[in-house]
Amino acid sequence: MSEPHDFTALVIGGSVGGLAAAHELRAVGAEVAVYERSAGETSARGAGIVMQPEVDALLNRLGSDAASVSVELRERQQLDAEGRASRHGAPQLMTAWDTLYRALREPLSGVCHRQDSTLRSVRVSGHEVTAEFADGHSACGNFLVGADGIGSATRMLLDSVTRPEYAGYVAWRGLEPESALPDDLRDLLDDRFTFFTSSGMQMLCYLVPGADGEREKGARRVTWVWYVNVAEPDLPRLLTGRLGTHFAHFVPPGELRSETVEEVRGLADVSLPRPLAELVRLSDVFMQPVFDLAPGRMVADHAALIGDAAGTVRPHTASGTSKAFGDAAGLAAALRGWTPARPLPFYELEHWEIRRLDRFLTLSEAGFDLAVRSTLGAGRGTRFFASDRP
Ligand SMILES: Cc1cc2nc3c(=O)[nH]c(=O)nc-3n(C[C@H](O)[C@H](O)[C@H](O)COP(=O)(O)OP(=O)(O)OC[C@H]3O[C@@H](n4cnc5c(N)ncnc54)[C@H](O)[C@@H]3O)c2cc1C
Repeated sequence: MSEPHDFTALVIGGSVGGLAAAHELRAVGAEVAVYERSAGETSARGAGIVMQPEVDALLNRLGSDAASVSVELRERQQLDAEGRASRHGAPQLMTAWDTLYRALREPLSGVCHRQDSTLRSVRVSGHEVTAEFADGHSACGNFLVGADGIGSATRMLLDSVTRPEYAGYVAWRGLEPESALPDDLRDLLDDRFTFFTSSGMQMLCYLVPGADGEREKGARRVTWVWYVNVAEPDLPRLLTGRLGTHFAHFVPPGELRSETVEEVRGLADVSLPRPLAELVRLSDVFMQPVFDLAPGRMVADHAALIGDAAGTVRPHTASGTSKAFGDAAGLAAALRGWTPARPLPFYELEHWEIRRLDRFLTLSEAGFDLAVRSTLGAGRGTRFFASDRP
């Protein structure tokens, strides 16, 4: 017999933030259902994630831990233009989106998790929230959590004005098996968080678990992120995929136009240290422009926003995922003990919102400062990929 539940929560978005919310809400007695827009394989969306305490805390509560889903690095190294390295000890755990996703998804096997479910509208009547999806399906609950990322439909229903703003640079990215790398390149990157910076660009790369979570040498993957300043008028061209599709926030692996891939490789050859240019050349490159989405309200009538749906922080603090987890944990704590027989815990929800907006501001300022120091963003450093270049 299933246990009685205090209330029913509908979680919109089944990425890592949505799954964290599902766990946290279940832990306070909610029955949870997750609705995810993607129809099938979702791993292409993510690459590396720097492990942070909020993620470790949830994994611990699920009977796992950070180390079991991560690769441990020993050092950081800064490469100069010639590829010479300066190094210092800096132990750090690195995981991958798909590894973390699995660690969160598997313990939710008994929970309703509906894919191909794109939220279209939300209605609230008393303590009943009805979510309607593009395929005509509808779901009823008592509280709705918008964990649907930067383009959040939930957010637009709560606040139709605020839109993500392009930050002036993009992230070219790659995720390849380490076994595909030549020995000298693998030796250089092994166990190290590698950085290269020059005007208008910064590249970093590190090892993450293999496609099935393998952590042993030879079976892991290398992920890299290369931030490059690109003027806004040049962005639509780079976001146009090989079949003419215009992507809004992410161009998945295999979808960039071949001309764009050649441009990326050409720029890598002339501006990165040789080993990093080689890494770009042997990767199936994908792309993510960096956007700022300032948070407004995180709570509305029987609904709340978490993670990127609530607001984005620059990736340099490596805290987007941990912010989503922290949002989810605090939201569940605010709803602990609530049942639809009582009024919503407005005081607790408001305090949750204040604390999380405060956390957001701290992370946001830190990320912005790091970007400025690396000459990334509109009006800073050199720009690349100008369509009018000779
Ligand atoms: C270049 C770059 C590098 C980054 N590196 C890191 C890092 O190292 N560490 C880190 O912690 N963070 C990093 N981040 C940030 C991180 O990707 C996000 O902060 C994190 O994934 C937020 O998770 P989320 O669950 O809130 O949103 P998302 O992961 O964006 O998930 C949203 C989900 O909602 C679904 N969805 C969207 N619309 C709908 C709808 N209408 N109906 C139903 N479902 C919907 C989507 O399909 C998706 O599954 C990086 C970001 C960038 C841009």
